[in-house]
Amino acid sequence: MSGDSQKTFYLETFGCQMNVHDSEKVVGTLMREGYRQVESVEQADLILYNTCSIRDKAEQKVFHRLADFKKLQAQGKKFGVLGCVAQQEGEKIFERAPHVSLVCGSASYQNLPQMLLKLEGRVTDSRIPQMQRDPSTSLGQAPGHPSVGLGGGYPTSANNPLIRITGLDDRQTDKCFETEYTARTNPHRAYITIIEGCDKFCAYCVVPFTRGKERSRTSASVLAEARQIADLGYSEIQLLGQNVNSYRDPDGKKSFAELLAAVGEVTGIKRVRFTTSHPRDFSRDIVDAIDAVPTLCDHVHLPVQSGSTRVLDAMQRLYTREQYLERMHWMKAAKREISITTDVIVGFPGETEADFAETLNLLDEVGFDGVFSFKYSARPNTPALSLNDAIPEQEKSRRLDVLMTRQKEIQIARYKKYVGTECEVMVEGQNPARGQWIGRTSQNKTLNFTSSAAVDLKPGSYVPVRVTSSFPNSLLGEMVV
Ligand code: SAM
Ligand code: SF4
Repeated sequence: MSGDSQKTFYLETFGCQMNVHDSEKVVGTLMREGYRQVESVEQADLILYNTCSIRDKAEQKVFHRLADFKKLQAQGKKFGVLGCVAQQEGEKIFERAPHVSLVCGSASYQNLPQMLLKLEGRVTDSRIPQMQRDPSTSLGQAPGHPSVGLGGGYPTSANNPLIRITGLDDRQTDKCFETEYTARTNPHRAYITIIEGCDKFCAYCVVPFTRGKERSRTSASVLAEARQIADLGYSEIQLLGQNVNSYRDPDGKKSFAELLAAVGEVTGIKRVRFTTSHPRDFSRDIVDAIDAVPTLCDHVHLPVQSGSTRVLDAMQRLYTREQYLERMHWMKAAKREISITTDVIVGFPGETEADFAETLNLLDEVGFDGVFSFKYSARPNTPALSLNDAIPEQEKSRRLDVLMTRQKEIQIARYKKYVGTECEVMVEGQNPARGQWIGRTSQNKTLNFTSSAAVDLKPGSYVPVRVTSSFPNSLLGEMVV
């Protein structure tokens, strides 16, 4: 517990960049409410986990963490579960981990200040705005613990150590979590959320259930944040969304490609990235924008999930193998070489050897610079639960190994091509043990480098580097002086 009177919190984040950035906004919100962030659970009054439930393993991690630190409840510490597991499991979390006091999904983060007041027992319920509870959006309620949304009837924590506060009712919200109080953790790359939630409902995926419906910010608000970030000295912006390219400006002023170009033209911004894109909504004008605006990075992450149209159909991915390949051709015809990375799921229910062979063949045909590959994991509430998940775990692991081995060979060959070329890198730091600087190219490749001259490079600076050797996942080079 903190030695001074200021309330302290510890926050651990699991999962994707969206979660990392949500945490930056949560941290900013807590600091605004008078909390101080600390580095360990032992120092904290409030312990928060921003969770991920995309696969079963990610979800289990959170419950292990909660079990590990349960004993600290005796010291008066409070626990909160935020994010996707919170939304998915809802009040069942109070049953599984009774020391938890706060369960809040990402669509309710704008209500965090009120929830904190309630958690501290500093507010009577009458001061908290009444909110409508939508019974259709509740994912479960633990017996013996009536649900308490904001405006519910629980006593405050001052006299009730078992207080339960929930923010679970906002998945139908039209609002994004916009806050000027963002505690950015990366000093050079700033994240900007442009779209939240997802309406695609891929058969295997929890996101539409945990993050709510799709809603975009206005282009004016995104551009204002981009300018503010540039004024603060950031040179790289990463636009975020579960599907960034499904962006629809509520004011109808800009398409995604136009917004991308406009962010790239903000004075002071040298690199703009965007993730993740959905193949169905990936239009040619995005490639045109990358061609036209040099600050837009020559890297696109476009998850394919499977190379078999039959499996894509069962996954409800809304595109065929041929349509995916058409997008690859657009990118390969771009003026700059665009580095392409993807996600693949192996062992989706009903995936045959022939389907899997089509995925391997797609890897060969496209030549990705990186593949994030996963074994299918059955998730609560998803349509794929009704399919027969008949592929044994062992077989899923075998397919994953085969795929990773094939992709490693592809990457070895692809990375080799860069030997002898010159790239601009942004300096990210130093590796003193190896006597190397750590750099990142516009194509999002790690390019570590040395310098024959004594140089004192500042992280965030940009320098030219000649590539001297390659590995499956990184490049090595010498700074051009
Ligand atoms: N919106 C992105 C898209 O449409 O591709 C993906 C976002 S999801 C958070 C990140 C990745 O997790 C997906 O691309 C998929 O490969 C993987 N994933 C999602 N659900 C999964 C599941 N049930 N089992 C295994 N992998 C899964
Ligand atoms: Fe999940 Fe599909 Fe939405 Fe991506 S598009 S977040 S995989 S439901």
